[in-house]
Amino acid sequence: VKLFAVEHRVGLEARTRLNGHPGLVLWLTGLSGSGKSTISLELEARLVAAGRHAYLLDGDNVRHGLNADLGFSPEDRTENIRRVGEVAALMADAGLIVIAAFISPYRADRSSARAAVARLNGPSFHEVHVSAPIDVCEARDPKGLYQKARSGQLPEFTGISAPYEPPEAPELTLDTASLGVDAAVETTLAYLDRHLRS
Ligand code: ADP
Repeated sequence: VKLFAVEHRVGLEARTRLNGHPGLVLWLTGLSGSGKSTISLELEARLVAAGRHAYLLDGDNVRHGLNADLGFSPEDRTENIRRVGEVAALMADAGLIVIAAFISPYRADRSSARAAVARLNGPSFHEVHVSAPIDVCEARDPKGLYQKARSGQLPEFTGISAPYEPPEAPELTLDTASLGVDAAVETTLAYLDRHLRS
């Protein structure tokens, strides 16, 4: 089957003018409990309060809708990230600052998300490693998931019974074992500010 693509008459420049900033994807990856949701929720609120068009795509939420049909097998995790990578790319192309908070344990899947954004020729992609040692995440256990994973109630749990491949060259690393939530958010806002101004 031959597929055709239509070409938008509205491009990056017009959307940037309309929004006051370019669209981009800020991709947060890290273990469960590393702090992705906590940081993202605060970031989204702070950006919107500052007049930026920002939207959080959160792993847990997306699994209730778009990806309700997917589980946690390696194949399903890859499909989960493939879909949200494409959605994040479209939303960024529309001009939004997309905060994508997903464990996204596989390097190749994160690369595909980066490629989905690059394919659009406008928005940029920024990988943020939300990093904390597994024992720190396990001690936090904000949703009681590690406890369930240890007792065998949750198979294929990232960091316990499923792999996590840390980023090799993330644009930003937030070490949440040493940074507090506020410091992590400030660091990210400063990074974004530098990027949005250049
Ligand atoms: P994730 O979304 O990565 O699974 P959550 O944000 O749900 O992680 O949980 C992280 C937990 O760690 C929360 O209870 C949060 O209050 C705590 N926490 C402690 N320090 C930090 C930090 N610097 N950044 C983010 N969360 C932190």
